Amino acid sequence: MSTDTSAKRFTRTLVTSALPYANGYIHLGHIAGAYLPADIYVRFKRMRGERVLYVGGSDEFGVAITITALKENIPPQAVIDRYHTANADAFARLGISYDIYGRTSWPLHADTTQAFFRKLHAAGAIPAQEMELWYSPQLDKFLPDRYVKGTCPKCGYADANGDECEACGAQYSARDLVSPRSNIPGDASSPELRASRHWFLDLPQFAEKLAAWLETHPEWRANVRGIAGGWVGDLRPRCITRDLDWGVPIPLDDPDAAGKRIYVWFDAPIGYVTNTRQWGLDRHGDPDAWVPWWKDAETRLIHFIGKDNVPFHAVIFPSMLMGQGDYILPDQVVANEYLNVFNRRTGQSEKGSKSKGNMISVDWALGHFSADSLRYYLCAVAPESKDADFDWDDFMNRYNGELCDVVGNFVHRSLTMTVKNFDEKVPEAGEFEADDVAMLDAIGEHAEGVAESLENFRFRQGIERVVDLGRKANVYFDARQPWVTRKTDLPRTGTTLHVCCQVVKALCGLMAPFLPDGAKTLAGTLGVPLPGGGPDGGPDAWAEIITRLPAGHPLAPPQVLFPKLDKDRIAELAELHEKGLAK
Ligand SMILES: [Zn+2]
Repeated sequence: MSTDTSAKRFTRTLVTSALPYANGYIHLGHIAGAYLPADIYVRFKRMRGERVLYVGGSDEFGVAITITALKENIPPQAVIDRYHTANADAFARLGISYDIYGRTSWPLHADTTQAFFRKLHAAGAIPAQEMELWYSPQLDKFLPDRYVKGTCPKCGYADANGDECEACGAQYSARDLVSPRSNIPGDASSPELRASRHWFLDLPQFAEKLAAWLETHPEWRANVRGIAGGWVGDLRPRCITRDLDWGVPIPLDDPDAAGKRIYVWFDAPIGYVTNTRQWGLDRHGDPDAWVPWWKDAETRLIHFIGKDNVPFHAVIFPSMLMGQGDYILPDQVVANEYLNVFNRRTGQSEKGSKSKGNMISVDWALGHFSADSLRYYLCAVAPESKDADFDWDDFMNRYNGELCDVVGNFVHRSLTMTVKNFDEKVPEAGEFEADDVAMLDAIGEHAEGVAESLENFRFRQGIERVVDLGRKANVYFDARQPWVTRKTDLPRTGTTLHVCCQVVKALCGLMAPFLPDGAKTLAGTLGVPLPGGGPDGGPDAWAEIITRLPAGHPLAPPQVLFPKLDKDRIAELAELHEKGLAK
């Protein structure tokens, strides 16, 4: 087995998930991309007793938010409060176990961002430059990106933004936009081009360093290496300020800086640092507790993101970190492809989009399904190397057929029979025969196999290996027929169920990173602790997966861990989803 040995150099792991934009509700596509894999990984690391910190939060600046505020006639703060609160709640209900879920609107974040800016500026990495931008004569203000709409110069899409096209992904300068029109309600004037002075992150300065650094990471997924390599081969200075009043102020004593703000894509990844600072204050009351997590070479920084975020996390943010001089760089950038939606009417896979209304919000989904059922399916079909679909029939079939029928069923019949026939205790084992030994050996093999999958960020493979242990256990159970031997040979039945109880205990530990609710319920039935470390580390509970429950250990009557999904109910909900109501 090949294990990612690079992890051995580190004594601390800092995990981040992309900050969702506080202008909409998170949906299942987001979860499959940047959140569930990170959470599984973090839970696994905690079980191992390693020191791990998991940082997330809301990304709360940018024009999309101020446009929502304008359209609803409310302040931007009300927009971000609404989505921050709802998304933090949805993550918590789904069991995404952040150590902190912060906000880029915190004053502390302006402080962190300005420190980044100043350092880069002092080093000559943020030069100013005049540029032509669209301007509204009626409102007497500039119209940055989404404040101006027009026709894409590349593909002709009529609703393109001022600097990029959502339809074809093209990026262009403002003057190339065709037929510009103001996107601010009530502004009827025709936009005109005017000069404005802005600040640019001089990415070409970092080209050589970035290329050399990317060379040191051949182990990264092909999608990340491909996209990052493409960017590094064609770096241009990138404008990091906008004519806006919603964002972090530019920390320069310069008349042109007044009335402008640092732009959202510069400050958003710095939110990881801010939120680590806030975590240190909350937890330790120590303004410097964050420092080793970002500046000590023994910290392993891992970003979990969706594919669209690769340039920011594998090129731009690393340049900003390099420019600070004393920060670590990410050691892994784990990017998933997209989770699309399978349309049952057309039989086609389609991209999730707001305008199509085909996305399933986490809040809606949790109103109808358990967190474990969603986590199981989204992990089983995770878009790790290519796009995957959320498909209602597949969801039901895989959850019912694999988790319920294989794992849940084995656990339930083993415990039911043990509790009933052996006085609610783990039975004594007689002499083990070859298949008993093989079954017990399989526990260690699977514990190692699942760990190997997770260390290498292969979450689909990890959950498959958990189910596979359940499959082997069912084969063993069926071959041993304890329901038959119960009447003829009670000691042999005891040995069989003794072995089964060990597998159940192992399944409890193995499923814990993936299916925390089921694992917790099962741990209660078994009367075993489910210890987990955290930022301070702890005992290695993963190593305990192979230790056995002694004969005589008391058990509680089992509960159904994974209730089955009903076919008619799935059909009803799929229909609501098709009507655009799963939001
Ligand atoms: Zn276009």
